[in-house]
Amino acid sequence: MTRPYNFSAGPAAIPAEVLEQAAAEMLDWHGSGMGVMEMSHRGKEFISIYEQAEADLRELLSVPSQFKILFMQGGGLAENAIVPLNLSRAGVVDFVVTGSWSQKSQKEARKYAAEVNVIASGEANGFTTLPDPAAWTPSRGASYLHICSNETINGVEFQELPDLRGLGCDAPLVIDFSSHVASRPVDWSRVGLAFGGAQKNLGPAGLTLVIVREDLLGHALPACPSAFDYKTVADNHSMYNTPPTWGIYVAGLTFQWLKRQREGGHSGIAAMEQRNIAKARLLYDAIDQSQFYVNKVAANCRSRMNVPFFLRDESRNDAFLAGAKERGLLQLKGHKSVGGMRASLYNAMPLAGVQALVDYMREFEQKNA
Ligand code: PMP
Repeated sequence: MTRPYNFSAGPAAIPAEVLEQAAAEMLDWHGSGMGVMEMSHRGKEFISIYEQAEADLRELLSVPSQFKILFMQGGGLAENAIVPLNLSRAGVVDFVVTGSWSQKSQKEARKYAAEVNVIASGEANGFTTLPDPAAWTPSRGASYLHICSNETINGVEFQELPDLRGLGCDAPLVIDFSSHVASRPVDWSRVGLAFGGAQKNLGPAGLTLVIVREDLLGHALPACPSAFDYKTVADNHSMYNTPPTWGIYVAGLTFQWLKRQREGGHSGIAAMEQRNIAKARLLYDAIDQSQFYVNKVAANCRSRMNVPFFLRDESRNDAFLAGAKERGLLQLKGHKSVGGMRASLYNAMPLAGVQALVDYMREFEQKNA
């Protein structure tokens, strides 16, 4: 079955192979007589699904043994509260604001931390550039420093994670990697905690992934809900409360799909990265070579995953979107706060999908320029 190409920013496209397998197993998982949604999370069937998913993710992302992988609920926005509840120690926390999502994060942290310092911001440039880490001055004694490593709405991405130790800062780095998790390798030597919702690159909404260094566990504020205390979650292997079982299962199928991917002599995440570089280059080149479309983000800060772009003549936006839909190119409308268009090129988007978009864009330009 051929499906349209879905450029949604999230919830987003899931690989067809994953959906087909989930559909085939919907009524009866591996001869158990039960669908995954109907199983006890404490039964041996689900425990095996959970253990496999965790092991596959650890392997794919090369997560070191001193990090715990937690499968939680609440999404990225709940983590904006859960992180300071667990890590702030009611002290000082630092933020680098690079777009809508890190902006939201620093606002929420003010409810829990004694002091929130925005130590660098891309706001003056309309979030089209990333502040250079070499110029950051982290607060003395900060409990952590938070960044959003890929800003889904503004389309800026850290191509390299900042090296806080190199800046003389020993605070742990917290990254919101919701919208580029599993699209590229992670340098765990620079990270204290990473969190992200699953609904872009991993599976359905409802599952939230947290990967946290062990020494950061056990410092939650007294008001932290037990179900959101990372130590409680870790000690109970993500089963203190009922975890999002369906989300873990579909993410697990996605992890197996990722492990099967091959590209240019690479496999797994390295293969995805190669493919994601090629996809992003194809689209950005098409935009840059045209007088009709524009992307405003500085070249070295551009996101591989989320490409916001504009028609120079915005009166043609509706016609562009309608023609795209007719071609089977779905969900290209930009975020309401930014306008224009946005193409999200997550792992499930093949190069052929980006080629189809670029072909359509050229054709639309020729007809309308
Ligand atoms: N952070 C980022 C980078 C996001 O893209 C999103 C969702 N688009 C969120 C946080 C919020 O996630 P959720 O809706 O799962 O709370």
